[in-house]
Amino acid sequence: MKPILEIDDLHISYGMVEAVRGVSLSISAGEIISVIGPNGAGKSTLLNAIIGLLPSKGTLQFEGQDLHWLDVESRIEMGLCLVPERGELFGALSVLDNLRLGAYSKKLGRQVLKERLEWVYGRLPRLAERMAQRADTLSGGERQMLALGRALMSSPRLLMLDEPSLGLAPLIVKDILNIVGTLREDGVSILLVEQNARAALEISDRGYVLETGEIALTGESARLASDPRVQATYLGRDVELDELP
Ligand code: ATP
Repeated sequence: MKPILEIDDLHISYGMVEAVRGVSLSISAGEIISVIGPNGAGKSTLLNAIIGLLPSKGTLQFEGQDLHWLDVESRIEMGLCLVPERGELFGALSVLDNLRLGAYSKKLGRQVLKERLEWVYGRLPRLAERMAQRADTLSGGERQMLALGRALMSSPRLLMLDEPSLGLAPLIVKDILNIVGTLREDGVSILLVEQNARAALEISDRGYVLETGEIALTGESARLASDPRVQATYLGRDVELDELP
């Protein structure tokens, strides 16, 4: 199958410092890909370049179209979406208004917006219960769900998640990553950046290990999870989804 996103020999720099050095990566439709690696490896930098917040050099194509010439808004219109670390919600607005803003760029009609909201509430029922609540009064897990729900309002074809489990309790991590896993059924491709390597490899099809701006290892997630190098470096500390109640 032809990849929906194709990256080849991508380089991203902050001034004189090259943070991503020749990364190649691809995602097919409906595939979940995880990118794991230590702090400062370049994971967020990669996502920011894909959405258009940072310039990059090399091949960066979405459905065969070169993204380099397109600004962030055009990339979102094409179906790309990034949920940044910690979600960046509008704290003073309600859950419902945050969700509505997620679809803002799509200029949806009333009926389509309503159907989209119902679909998101179906996937994330907690948001329906908290519809009228201010976003800044939500728990950490609920905030992350709202950030995910808001992204889903834009009907993304490729959803990029930057550390959705950051700062959350293990049970909530399990909830959120399980929800992410179900999005595959809706044909959404997912690029998941996580420090919680074990959980990320459990829900993804394939994984990439990014170290100091380069891909150190790649393969099917199950194979990566049993690789002694991955086990020694990344799987010692975090929580196993199966072990949770
Ligand atoms: P973390 O998990 O800690 O967020 P990461 O893998 O996402 O790490 P990046 O945030 O992409 O890593 O950072 C990659 C490298 O680029 C790091 O060395 C970082 O210090 C550097 N970097 C990130 N943002 C900037 C910036 N705005 N200006 C200069 N250097 C930056």
